Amino acid sequence: MNTSNTFYQTTPESDITYLKGVGPRRGAVLKAHGIHTIRDLLYYIPRKYLDRTLVMSINQLRIGDEAVVIGKVLATGSKKTRNRSFFQVTISDGSGMLTCVWFRHSPWITEKFTEGELVAFYGKVEFYNGLKLVHPDFDLLDTGEDPVNTGQILATYPSTGELKSVGFDSRGFRRVIRNVFSALDQFPVDPIKDLSLSLPLITLTDALKTIHQPQCQEDIPKALYRLKFEEHFFFQLLMALRRKVLREIVGRVFDQQGAYVKEMYEKLPFKLTDAQIKVLREIRSNLKSPSQMNRLLQGDVGSGKTVVAMLTAALVIGNGAQVAVMAPTEILAEQHLAGFTTFCDLVDIQIVLLKGGIRGDQRQDILDDIRTGKTQLVVGTHALIQEDVVFKDLGLIIVDEQHRFGVDQRKSLMDKGWSPEMLVMTATPIPRTLAITYHGDMDVSVIDELPSGRKTIKTTVVKPTRLPKVYDFIRKEISQGRQCFVVYPVIEESEKPDIEAAETGYRYLKEKIFNASSVGYINGRMKTDERTEQMRKFERNETQILVATTVIEVGIDIPNATVMVVENAERFGLAQLHQLRGRIGRGAHQSFCILVERKKTENGRQRLKVMERTIDGFQIADEDLAMRGPGEFFGTQQSGYAKSRIVNFREDGAVIQQARHAAFEIVDRDPHLTATAHRNLRKRFTDRYQSMLDLVNIG
Ligand code: ADP
Ligand code: MG
Repeated sequence: MNTSNTFYQTTPESDITYLKGVGPRRGAVLKAHGIHTIRDLLYYIPRKYLDRTLVMSINQLRIGDEAVVIGKVLATGSKKTRNRSFFQVTISDGSGMLTCVWFRHSPWITEKFTEGELVAFYGKVEFYNGLKLVHPDFDLLDTGEDPVNTGQILATYPSTGELKSVGFDSRGFRRVIRNVFSALDQFPVDPIKDLSLSLPLITLTDALKTIHQPQCQEDIPKALYRLKFEEHFFFQLLMALRRKVLREIVGRVFDQQGAYVKEMYEKLPFKLTDAQIKVLREIRSNLKSPSQMNRLLQGDVGSGKTVVAMLTAALVIGNGAQVAVMAPTEILAEQHLAGFTTFCDLVDIQIVLLKGGIRGDQRQDILDDIRTGKTQLVVGTHALIQEDVVFKDLGLIIVDEQHRFGVDQRKSLMDKGWSPEMLVMTATPIPRTLAITYHGDMDVSVIDELPSGRKTIKTTVVKPTRLPKVYDFIRKEISQGRQCFVVYPVIEESEKPDIEAAETGYRYLKEKIFNASSVGYINGRMKTDERTEQMRKFERNETQILVATTVIEVGIDIPNATVMVVENAERFGLAQLHQLRGRIGRGAHQSFCILVERKKTENGRQRLKVMERTIDGFQIADEDLAMRGPGEFFGTQQSGYAKSRIVNFREDGAVIQQARHAAFEIVDRDPHLTATAHRNLRKRFTDRYQSMLDLVNIG
């Protein structure tokens, strides 16, 4: 063997620093952008392509064209007229000359172009003293890269100021990727090659070559599909393997009707919707089976999740076990307590709230009752799984919000030998593609129907100048016996300026606009007692207007409230606005949501338009996904996958389904991935998801 050759061998795992044309300084910048190895560079997906068929010749350009022009730089220069300064570049493509201009330009642009250089420009043709391209996008080309004369399709890459500052604009990426292709002794092993999937999948090598150096346009979608599939497939494999493990956990069997569920059902003050009944049936089948339930219960605000959770709890309690309801915050825990208590009282189920503030004898009493089983349903925060909380027999855990049980917490529950059933409730509608990815290891139930008789909520966006009219309207509603929320954005409850704005607003409304005795106020920094007191007053209609920060977002149920005014609505995210609006429209009266837009921003405007257009939470979630991307739905968890630029949850529905199907089928046949045909698959999978293998059991 030739040792020097081995030494210099370039593999997909090779550090990017040692690639020709990179080096330590530029390598560090690439690494800061997530490109550590040759493989990472190979998977750096182009943004778009510069295709010969799209290039126009200068003498054919007309005003208004979205043009792609390639030319040699003839001259550059900064100019100043009386009222503005600008930078311009004049190019020629043989057919004519064209000037590109930048007003208010960043200083670096003046350094960017050299005379004689070949550049592609993309922009709109406008008329300013002749035809100009104003603020065009551009791409420096190398000699030999001119797609018009060579018939090439050139990849253009996403870049940042920092990357560009060390030469990684599109041209830089094209150069370095050419170097990879000539230096690479072996392309990455195709991990899904041996799976014999009946899908139109080209080989990994072909896909990578095509994606960076396509021979023709038609090849690009196939290559993209191949790479997308791989990305989704590995994530679905993780989900399939996890689900396998979860399914194998021996769970409880709750197959008795018990003493409570029938009576509670009969005493309900309403008829369950078909969707609620369907979901209860799905849950019931889990409870009866001897494997552990892991079910996500999704339903829009007001769809009636609480009663579904409660009937589930009643069934488990009827089988002699206990139930814990875990909420992410104490406020929410309190609200759940209120929600569940109304139902518990129908049949005399013993329910208690366990929260941080309770100490001493009082806490001891509560713990004793949980230990002896006298308490049947416990509501609280994560504090519920602390060591000194001992259940007689915990059979079901209901977790609120997509804030999921960490793997550690799940384990710590198992280790205590409880093996409880698990029901996760979320009021944040999630687009289906996300539900089957991020919750891909769980069963998903959706309450996709609101109780009948609900009036739709009328939503209007207003400017602050309209507020006097809004206040008149509120007075009218109040005179008819209704109530109103006015919400201020306090993004974190500790943000001082926000709290001050809310307080000022409260005083203004109380002293200047409405009758002082009718206005209440809550914020998240108040003492619980005070907050509870304010809530009670509003509940009993002793105050008619409740000024609040976002603490009222989830859970509060006051059917008599018909108006929701959201101040600075442009500052809220769509999910939050949707949650807020869900606080009204809960009774028999027509409700109104008034979104006050104080500052115009492009995104804010777009969000408010969505709110005006629809009240359907799933539709709003889709729009949210399109505007913000999936990261926002789930925080930073699993972000490598979500951030992968090749993944697009809005467009990839079909690919995700195919990838999921393939992954689940493979795990069905070979649950530990030990078959010879799965060797490469397993290797690549464990490399990729190293840090997430704790709920996975492979050979
Ligand atoms: P969610 O938690 O899904 O936002 P809730 O469980 O708080 O919704 O229910 C909203 C309101 O609708 C509550 O007042 C609840 O009692 C009521 N409700 C639930 N199910 C029904 C139903 N089938 N018919 C009428 N009202 C219902
Ligand atoms: Mg079961």
